[in-house]
Amino acid sequence: MRYLIISDIHANLEAFEAVIAAAESERVDRRIFLGDVVGYGPEPDDCFRRLEDWADIRLTGNHDYAVLGLTDITYFNPVAKQAVLWTRANMQPENQQKMGRLHCHEYYDSLCLVHSSPYQPEEWHYIFTVHQAQTNFEYFSGQLCFIGHSHIPIIIEQKPTGEIVRRLQHRYILSPESRYIINVGSVGQPRDNDPRSCYMVYDSEAGILEYKRIPYPVTKTQEKILQAGLPEFLAYRLGLGY
Ligand code: ZN
Repeated sequence: MRYLIISDIHANLEAFEAVIAAAESERVDRRIFLGDVVGYGPEPDDCFRRLEDWADIRLTGNHDYAVLGLTDITYFNPVAKQAVLWTRANMQPENQQKMGRLHCHEYYDSLCLVHSSPYQPEEWHYIFTVHQAQTNFEYFSGQLCFIGHSHIPIIIEQKPTGEIVRRLQHRYILSPESRYIINVGSVGQPRDNDPRSCYMVYDSEAGILEYKRIPYPVTKTQEKILQAGLPEFLAYRLGLGY
């Protein structure tokens, strides 16, 4: 089975369409989305509708929850907060209602899928360090857990000895004895200093994970952000992948 796994579209339609187009040549069997379809970007409705048609499995993220008033935004940074309030005011109520029916944590084909972390998924913890990963390995079953949330692609391996190793490889062959937490990166707001959209292909027969990066018309999205009256910084950061 070949899975295409993406996360964090953040209402960036140009980026999402570039991924949809690239996905056509990937011969995938299942398309999975790990949450945060909205927030930051200017086209929440279009992205939500495209996602409904495109993805087999859809999760929700902290920005989606925030738009629905389901999570506290006191701790959001000022631009994220502004974008949440903008989305709440501008996204079709019907789409907001549908978005409210999605979950932030699911198992599918024995894969653990979660927006933030298997440990307390609704608290939106980040997994950056070996220590954070260690706790999380105790909170899911099976070999693989796919996450989004930080927008930073990373493969974290727990060896049978218990040792945890962080890996940054475009193409990675899974070791059958190890368990993994895999951050699939972000479609609509990459933050690893590479502005190109990120998606992952997981081939379960071959046991191979592959990150793919594709360019999209960033300036078009930047113009739409400014026209929508969203914070300028949100346009600026897309150009840098930051
Ligand atoms: Zn996000």
